Amino acid sequence: MQFIKKINHSLPLNDQLIRFITFFILLIARAFMWVMPIFFAIIFIKPQFVLNYKETLRKLRIHHTALSQGPVKRYVETFFKARINQTTHISGECTQCGNCCLNKQCVFLEPIEDDKFQCGVYNSPFRKLSNCGAFPISSEDIERYECPGYVFNHYPVIKIKKAS
Ligand code: SF4
Ligand code: SF4
Repeated sequence: MQFIKKINHSLPLNDQLIRFITFFILLIARAFMWVMPIFFAIIFIKPQFVLNYKETLRKLRIHHTALSQGPVKRYVETFFKARINQTTHISGECTQCGNCCLNKQCVFLEPIEDDKFQCGVYNSPFRKLSNCGAFPISSEDIERYECPGYVFNHYPVIKIKKAS
């Protein structure tokens, strides 16, 4: 089903502050990574995060590296509405390719049939604390993950005609 995403308004936020908050979040996540399998097992009611502790930790390291390459900064910018928002010009539907889930590296992503993926914590209220639902909000988002499901509809160009 095709749909057009809703508009959000943007507020400016100091770039240095955004970088600091981003750095701080990544630092905390790195420092407490060892306890996260236990934490996730409890809040998402998925004991396998603890039962496969070593594997979860390995995935978490990959997850953290991917997060440090822009997604956390994007999260902070989106949270404070300091990010360009072009959602009124985006249409399409998700094909469940998994690209926007950290290029298929999210620790919560699960493969399903036909090379598709699903979020393993999709129905958890805690997932709403992330900004996973806020994708894509710009042409940059679509390009970044080469999203095959959504397209950015460019603004119509109005050309000025010469007087005859
Ligand atoms: S990249 Fe696009 S099509 Fe792929 S999972 Fe994300 S939103 Fe869906
Ligand atoms: S939607 Fe789920 S699998 Fe995808 S990035 Fe978010 S938490 Fe990870």
